[in-house]
Amino acid sequence: MQYRIDPKSGNALSILGFGCMRFPRTLGKTDMAKTEALIVKAVENGVNYFDTAYVYGDSEVVLGRILEKNSLRDKVYVATKLPLGICHTRQKLDELFEEQCGRLQTKHIDYYFMHNLSDMATWRRLCGLGVEHWIEEKKREKRIRQVGFSFHGTATDFVALLDAYPWDFCQIQYNYVYTDFQAGKAGLRAAAARGLPVFIMEPLLGGQLANRMPDGALARFKESGLCYSPAAWALRWLWNQEEVTVVLSGMNEESQLLENTATAHQAVPNMLSAAEEHTLGEAALAFQSFYKIPCTGCDYCMPCPHGVNIPACFASYNVACAAGFFAGFQQYVVSTGASNSQRKNIASRCVACGACEKKCPQHILIVEKLRAVKKRLEPFWFKTGMAILEKLL
Ligand code: SF4
Ligand code: SF4
Repeated sequence: MQYRIDPKSGNALSILGFGCMRFPRTLGKTDMAKTEALIVKAVENGVNYFDTAYVYGDSEVVLGRILEKNSLRDKVYVATKLPLGICHTRQKLDELFEEQCGRLQTKHIDYYFMHNLSDMATWRRLCGLGVEHWIEEKKREKRIRQVGFSFHGTATDFVALLDAYPWDFCQIQYNYVYTDFQAGKAGLRAAAARGLPVFIMEPLLGGQLANRMPDGALARFKESGLCYSPAAWALRWLWNQEEVTVVLSGMNEESQLLENTATAHQAVPNMLSAAEEHTLGEAALAFQSFYKIPCTGCDYCMPCPHGVNIPACFASYNVACAAGFFAGFQQYVVSTGASNSQRKNIASRCVACGACEKKCPQHILIVEKLRAVKKRLEPFWFKTGMAILEKLL
């Protein structure tokens, strides 16, 4: 494992961080045994940074339990996030923080985020609650060691936020396919220029850059003559940049963990050749031409009060664009339960209430895109076809 020094704290952080948003699941529940084995193995392989959040279901509780049971708390840095949307009083800040420490079975948080702080209006609202004094107090008590924010807004807002408070770190979405999206490369450089460590989320676009690459992009990798996996290409591109401190990966299988740690063992700044950079640029273009909706499957927009399975609709649409109507349609029917009148989570159930759009960190125009899904994947024979299918099954 390679480590990079966080310039603000002096901590040596593993360049591969463990993203705890999606732990392995069995029968709809977190698979504790599998998750524990993964976390223990990650630490054995040198990972020392674990990233969770209040809103990631039972993630904080599970992580806390596993670290405590295996006496790992003092061997790793724990990062978690304050859910800004439910912070309406200073007292609530305290309540949430104590609840998080309780869930994580820890007295202090090493890296504490303002979660999805993406515009100045939200920061000003928090300042109105006294968040700056609250942070100072928690840092004085050594309950919060480093404070920062995760970001999904515009490049302009990112720089404004960087300068709004003496942050210790920041976290941005960044990958080789969308280099100028949200904070982007300019944001990475702006943060590094201010002496901040930068943590990277969505390096594999919710797994799309690992195991759901379109053939056209895979062909670019193959032509290069290099035998890296798609995930290794994506991670190496990030670690090639010295401004990047930690790259988060949500790893559900031991094979993913071992592959990513093996890649991280050899990853140093400025390691990519010009030919490799060119290959990545070509692969990015091929990816963009196939995947039309940049949904990462994060589920932040869910549940839809009208029952639409938004990420499943978008994933199927993307497959239809990449691999043809029948491949996308097959996925649509299965993943949305289109042929099951009890569970029809299809695009045409959308009533355009707009509740989901505010929650999407990718700023996808969900209503408009669902119309496109409906148009493409619910042809004129769809209703009759699904009714017949339901009777047959
Ligand atoms: S806009 Fe459509 S998909 Fe979004 S929450 Fe409303 S009904 Fe559901
Ligand atoms: S539509 Fe947006 S919020 Fe919903 S799963 Fe996709 S990226 Fe996440």
